[in-house]
Amino acid sequence: MNSMLIIGAGEAGVRAALKLRELNSSVPITIIEMEKGDPYERPPLSKSSLTAELFEPKNIVTKAQLTEQHIQFIDGVLVESIDAQAKQVTLSNHKKLMFDKLLIATGASARTLPFANASEEDLEHFVFTLRTASDCQRIRSKVLAGQKVVLIGAGFIGLELAASLQAQQIKVTVLETQPRILQRAVPEAVARILHQAHHQNGTEIKLNSSIENVTFDHQARITLSSGEHLDADWLVVGIGSIPNINIAQQAELEIDNGIKVNIQMQTSHKDIYAAGDVCSFPYTVTQQRVRLESWRCAQEQAEVAAQNMLGGRKVYDLAPWFWSDQYNLGLQMVGLPLGATHSVTRLLGESSCLHFEAHSDGHLLSACGVGVGNQIAKDIKLAERLINQRKTVSIEELADPYVKLKDLLKK
Ligand SMILES: Cc1cc2nc3c(=O)[nH]c(=O)nc-3n(C[C@H](O)[C@H](O)[C@H](O)COP(=O)(O)OP(=O)(O)OC[C@H]3O[C@@H](n4cnc5c(N)ncnc54)[C@H](O)[C@@H]3O)c2cc1C
Repeated sequence: MNSMLIIGAGEAGVRAALKLRELNSSVPITIIEMEKGDPYERPPLSKSSLTAELFEPKNIVTKAQLTEQHIQFIDGVLVESIDAQAKQVTLSNHKKLMFDKLLIATGASARTLPFANASEEDLEHFVFTLRTASDCQRIRSKVLAGQKVVLIGAGFIGLELAASLQAQQIKVTVLETQPRILQRAVPEAVARILHQAHHQNGTEIKLNSSIENVTFDHQARITLSSGEHLDADWLVVGIGSIPNINIAQQAELEIDNGIKVNIQMQTSHKDIYAAGDVCSFPYTVTQQRVRLESWRCAQEQAEVAAQNMLGGRKVYDLAPWFWSDQYNLGLQMVGLPLGATHSVTRLLGESSCLHFEAHSDGHLLSACGVGVGNQIAKDIKLAERLINQRKTVSIEELADPYVKLKDLLKK
């Protein structure tokens, strides 16, 4: 009987295991995870897990549920190497496991900065990143009302963290090298609304600010290239992440901004698949290779990989979807603006808008919106259908708040 081995029990690894079991009741499935404990969701780590009175990670699934599904779960053990030829992995406990099909779902690690003059103790005491439940617990253990904290990087994690810390009476300053927040991730109109919300809630965002150096004494002292000094009780570095590709690299799988997979989530080795934050894939609309860090994308890719590990020929061709919550605002985006020639914004009020990007042939490529709570959720869902059904639309219709997206779907 073919055996299925999965490295990593994050969103992608767990979803793949559950899909494999759903499709085949008897195939042996094993997941190896280097962290100990039940697999957990990462999105709450920058949101509710930081503000809740008690730290309770939200489980994707429990060990008991995996056992019920006859999925072997080996936690607290690292996969140290893959022998692609022999179809075998070596674990940190020196055991070796064979596989017929392998899924690499090792995710990504938080990128940090060198902090040239910092000692081990300085790094331990003052410098934080946020990727794992233990990172979240480390940050929680530092939080004290009245503190001053500097967040380096105005990406999603930095900004969500800013909102969560500000809610706990911490004075937050965010440093961003770019001229605006979320420069690469969201359109300007959406970024402007989020920036305004941070400003109104007391978070200071310093744009065009690069760090000259950081020294540590009883506080962290940050010197900006403008010469300005900022003192902080502690710092969080939120400057993106690096895909965990070392074992794939060493197994000589092709790498291109992550483990390179085809639209079937198959790597350059026919029996090895990859999914989630660790891989880059060809986006079917434009054929451009992208690597995304998106919760739903990780699940969808994993389900495609699982079907193909069992001999299927599924392709991953859905419009990626992402969300972020900051203060009372909810952001959602769907699709990718790659290859867009036209863009238009629907203003829906002071703190809400929808932004669309389309191709000159009329195909909608992406939609991004922000609003209070779930205000824009329904429209993003409709935009998702327009994108996935490859509907053509006119820019004038997209711009007009009186034209219902639902009606465009009927055309
Ligand atoms: C703080 C935070 C907030 C987020 N918020 C959002 C959000 O609001 N919306 C959204 O769409 N996305 C969000 N994301 C992104 C989303 O969580 C990720 O895209 C998703 O978790 C990716 O799943 P994955 O399985 O690919 O990787 P991961 O969840 O990182 O899982 C990879 C697993 O592999 C394990 N592993 C790595 N190497 C090895 C090895 N050699 N041996 C054994 N195990 C190994 C790791 O320990 C880890 O558990 C957020 C991420 C973070 C960190």
